[in-house]
Amino acid sequence: SYVMYNESIIPKEEAAISFEDRGYYFGDGIYEVIRVYNGKLFLQEGHLERFQASASKLDLVVPYSPDTMKSLLRRLIDKNGLTTGYIYFQLTRGIQARDHLYERGTAPVLTGFTKTAGVPFAKQTDGIDVYATEDIRWLRCDIKTINLLGNVLAKRAAEDHHCAEALQHRGDVITEGSSTNAFIVKDETIITHPQSNYILEGITKRYVLQLAKQLNIPVEQRPFTIGEAKEADEMFMTSTSVEIVPVRSIQGSFEAGYGHSPVTRELLGEFRREVELFEAG
Ligand code: PMP
Repeated sequence: SYVMYNESIIPKEEAAISFEDRGYYFGDGIYEVIRVYNGKLFLQEGHLERFQASASKLDLVVPYSPDTMKSLLRRLIDKNGLTTGYIYFQLTRGIQARDHLYERGTAPVLTGFTKTAGVPFAKQTDGIDVYATEDIRWLRCDIKTINLLGNVLAKRAAEDHHCAEALQHRGDVITEGSSTNAFIVKDETIITHPQSNYILEGITKRYVLQLAKQLNIPVEQRPFTIGEAKEADEMFMTSTSVEIVPVRSIQGSFEAGYGHSPVTRELLGEFRREVELFEAG
């Protein structure tokens, strides 16, 4: 398979990452993941805008124009013949001797790969169990940094408790999953944490809220509590890779269970129809 290294698309075996890359020493970098359906990039603009925003928040400069980024992503997908899956790309602050103090002006390092990955239909149909755990992350969760230790530990804890995803909460407030955004449904209204420094504002989240609007489903973007999650009629998670998955049960810090989830199913049905149109278009 081929990978991206700055502006080159090269065989993976030929890619070499420097010992002194700040991504390696400090997790000093950002990333994005974009869904690929039928060889085409889904919601590409939103992902590239968020990539740029993450860079700015970390005083990083994306060394390529949006058009160059798009053509690099396109070339890598074509070279690997990817049809259904995703493209991952990251930008680190580049190669400098290890020092907390970074220098400006060093060339950043862009890398990327593609992966074949189907839509998780079984999870979408059956729902998943999630593991509730305290959110121990820093206070800039809005930045899509490669420094993911809080998320990584939460995900491991979930798996160790036979759950497919974590559900993080800061005290009483539910923030998000380890790599997904969280939603509850109460009396046919969708409630989800608002955009803030406490969560990563998902591109899928935004898309799903747009679909909800089209379907005339009311939405409240506000913090919601553990108590509200326990009392909710439905819960679901969203991300680039899973799209929309219903939550079947919550374990861990607190417990809850959900049934048929009609609002989640309606949204998922609409999401799938849109993707099929996108694939055909
Ligand atoms: N929250 C976190 C912490 C994530 O890592 C992700 C996945 N990138 C998401 C939410 C979902 O974001 P998106 O819908 O853009 O994939």
